[in-house]
Amino acid sequence: MKGILVILDGLGDLPHKLLGDKTPLEVAKTPNLDFLSNRGEMGIMDSIKPGFIPSSDEAIVSIFNNPQINSSRGQLEAAGSGLKLTRGDLAFRVNFATIDSLEGGNIIDRRAGRTLTTFEAEILAKDINKKVNLPIKFEFKPTIQHRGVLVFRGGFSDSVSNNDISYYNKGTINERKKILFSVPLDESEMAQYSSNVVNEFIAQSHEVLKNHFINEERKKKGLMPANFILLRGAGIEIPKLKFYNKWMSVCYMPLEIGFSKLSGMETFSFQYPKLKELDVYANLYEGLKLACKFSEKTLKKNYKDFEYAYIHIKETDLPGHDNKPLEKKEMLEYIDKTLFYFLKKFAPPNGIKVCITGDHSTPCRLKSHSADPVPVLLYNGAIPSEKRFNEREASKGTLGKIMGNDLLKVIEFDK
Ligand code: ZN
Ligand code: ZN
Repeated sequence: MKGILVILDGLGDLPHKLLGDKTPLEVAKTPNLDFLSNRGEMGIMDSIKPGFIPSSDEAIVSIFNNPQINSSRGQLEAAGSGLKLTRGDLAFRVNFATIDSLEGGNIIDRRAGRTLTTFEAEILAKDINKKVNLPIKFEFKPTIQHRGVLVFRGGFSDSVSNNDISYYNKGTINERKKILFSVPLDESEMAQYSSNVVNEFIAQSHEVLKNHFINEERKKKGLMPANFILLRGAGIEIPKLKFYNKWMSVCYMPLEIGFSKLSGMETFSFQYPKLKELDVYANLYEGLKLACKFSEKTLKKNYKDFEYAYIHIKETDLPGHDNKPLEKKEMLEYIDKTLFYFLKKFAPPNGIKVCITGDHSTPCRLKSHSADPVPVLLYNGAIPSEKRFNEREASKGTLGKIMGNDLLKVIEFDK
């Protein structure tokens, strides 16, 4: 093995007053990361281009040097969750969300409070598949907690808008909190027909969900009902991605699994722990713990068979969305104690380079992705010099300013 690329989702951040005007990376105690950064080089990266706010799918597609494809999210997540796509099938990434009512038209929470269990989602999805009646075939598949995938079978256009407020326009954040319906994005009959079908699904699935016993139970427990489906990332083309057959991938989110598989990587994955006691952060730490452990085990076992490894850690993105800078700092410290400690012991003696970066910034105080560049660290056994891996120091690093498309070339993970 020559190199390991670790992507911490949403890593980049901005100074936060709860952290004394510092970023989570700046305040986190990370001795093992410091070891790697002292013997490495740093830079910053715009994963798509300067000023563009990336979603995770756009970012990863770009970092692995693919041109941007029209809405890759739906297709990648479908591929990652085992749904077969044929040309013309229309795929979406979906969220279970909470609205007040169709008439009220207000979105209360884009993720139903993030407390929906996979078990509850499976029951809701089963009834949606059974009761929503469309003139075409469709498959609705829940993945992890509030997340899912929706595929309409047959001939469709992907020239239709999202109904997800946060992802209304590519590369920007939309602050509206009103329910949207899908609109055709070109004049064709096919686009009109496709958005009609999508809207029919949105309306009918709301009918199934609004008084569903699962949601009645949730309301009794003081939890948000999962009574509305948000769709984003409409796509029909099965993305043709660059082939990375000398790579292994360790990941567990449907998007990353789909991306890795379609990129020809040998993909190692584990089942995400179930949400117990409805403690979202306890579940995240459980997931993070498993992810770090699984990454170590899988690397140790397989590193001789691959030239490069891609490791994706999802949890670090969530405290950014929730404005929880202390949680983000704590997660970084946990990763340092486990995965980075392992990498410090494992990479240098085996002559393996390690690159650590994020797919985009998710600054806590913005509670969303932003266009701020992410810090990049390349551990390459350089002559030791005192430096810490964070947004400020990385922006002065010797790797300079990198475009996502060029990352693998700059760190020489393409040789
Ligand atoms: Zn991301
Ligand atoms: Zn995010």
